[in-house]
Amino acid sequence: MPVSVVDRYDRPLKSLRLSVTDRCNLRCKYCMPEQDYVWLPREDVLTYEEMATLTGYFTDLGVDRVRLTGGEPLLRRDLPRLIRLLLQNRRVTEIALTTNGILLAEQIEALYEAGLYRITISLDTLRPERFRQLTRRDEYARVMEGIESVVRAGFTGLKLDTVAIRGFNDDELVALIEFGKQVQAEVRFIEYMDVGGANEWSQEQVLSRAEMLTLLGRHYGVIEPMPERGAAPAQRYLLPDGTTFGIIPSTTTPFCATCDRSRVTADGMWYRCLYATTGTDLRTPLRTGASMDEMRALLRAGWEGRSDRGAEERKALERNGLRVGGLIGIEKLRENPHLEMHARGG
Ligand code: SAM
Ligand code: SF4
Ligand code: SF4
Repeated sequence: MPVSVVDRYDRPLKSLRLSVTDRCNLRCKYCMPEQDYVWLPREDVLTYEEMATLTGYFTDLGVDRVRLTGGEPLLRRDLPRLIRLLLQNRRVTEIALTTNGILLAEQIEALYEAGLYRITISLDTLRPERFRQLTRRDEYARVMEGIESVVRAGFTGLKLDTVAIRGFNDDELVALIEFGKQVQAEVRFIEYMDVGGANEWSQEQVLSRAEMLTLLGRHYGVIEPMPERGAAPAQRYLLPDGTTFGIIPSTTTPFCATCDRSRVTADGMWYRCLYATTGTDLRTPLRTGASMDEMRALLRAGWEGRSDRGAEERKALERNGLRVGGLIGIEKLRENPHLEMHARGG
């Protein structure tokens, strides 16, 4: 049995977001709007064996769900090998993937055979020109191929994640839900977050959950909330025709009280919150021969000392008019690339 730990707010450690690379083949304006980035040094990036070993320490403390993310995780060579390695650990009950979908069609069968459980694809618009504007790359067609390949390969439970941005895609919410029906996917709308620093965030662009429900209600009629599912960040809703969708109200209604997530960057920095500015270096002890007990003690102490409630704290700033722009200044981000969203996996 794993030893279960809780943090200072009595939150267990259940899920791990493992970032396998900080590189990306898109440049989404809410995540990587800059021209140049400082990348993690290649020699620091963990091998798959090291990632599996670290994951083992996390599962010893209660983690059972792992999500592979990035940057763009499918840029890392032979991701199915990592999935197979992670599944050798009996405590891992579910491995999911968050991807922008560009490289999915060509890898889908290998991912399925390796035992990947679920896929989430990020999709913010159904208009190729808008896609190019948002991501600064002309890859819409490949994303569509990626989405279509998922159900064909045998996966169920596909999710499409959309960052809802006022003045950008607020006129596409219905179209995205209708598209979701066609491809057997549940759409989840995420409120625009002021994480990282280079994100071009402003309060005015945040389309709140309440506003999304009003917009959707005008088209669909009565929208029923569905029962909450523990620590899941999305509130799910039911449309009159039985279609479901989700909203992740990370900015206006943070869910820090039930947050059971840890994040590990590709070079082994451990963050206990998406908004955390300090983390724990797990790579150095791992590479310098720390014993299993030492590693477990490090993780345990880190989680037991956790008092992070990043999104709630950011929200509290609103009252005094202090929530302006991103969390971290651009100069500081250049000094420490770990602070960016694309390094810690969203
Ligand atoms: N590249 C992959 C992708 O886009 O799916 C995985 C990594 S990406 C950082 C993970 C998720 O974070 C994506 O769904 C993306 O839309 C979301 N994200 C990035 N920046 C965000 C922001 N400022 N606000 C809300 N969501 C954001
Ligand atoms: Fe976009 Fe994901 Fe790449 Fe960020 S990491 S730029 S959200 S595709
Ligand atoms: Fe969890 Fe931090 Fe996000 Fe709150 S802001 S839900 S504590 S990761």
